[in-house]
Amino acid sequence: MEQKMYTCIDQNGTLIVSVASGCEIVAALERLCSDLDLQAGEITGLGAISGATLRFFDPRVKHYVDKTFEEQMEIANLTGNISRSEGKPYLHVHACLGRADYTMIGGHLLRAVVRGACELFVRPMPGPVGRRFDPETGLNLYEF
Ligand code: FE
Repeated sequence: MEQKMYTCIDQNGTLIVSVASGCEIVAALERLCSDLDLQAGEITGLGAISGATLRFFDPRVKHYVDKTFEEQMEIANLTGNISRSEGKPYLHVHACLGRADYTMIGGHLLRAVVRGACELFVRPMPGPVGRRFDPETGLNLYEF
């Protein structure tokens, strides 16, 4: 049987979510949004990971630079939002990550693999909240 990427419980409309150790966080959140048909919402959380890929957008050239950090880190804070793009869940997640020497790195979180715990609160909102590509900025901006 396939291992569950996450477990969750609904507490007065807020979902308390545990992402399983060894699972990738953004993929687990996409799965949660699909499973529960979430259209919009807010995500906060913390945890520990074995590595992460962060993405930096250079607005001058409208180009992404991705960098992977393969090391155990604390998720000191994770904050994100849920919307939809072309009918599919669209996650926008940022994170502050604490290294073993207690310095921090952070930014736009593309992927991170849990090693230990990952404890999130997901607050669903009715939506719909969409996305559309904006050629001016080069970004997928909100569309209401
Ligand atoms: Fe971002």
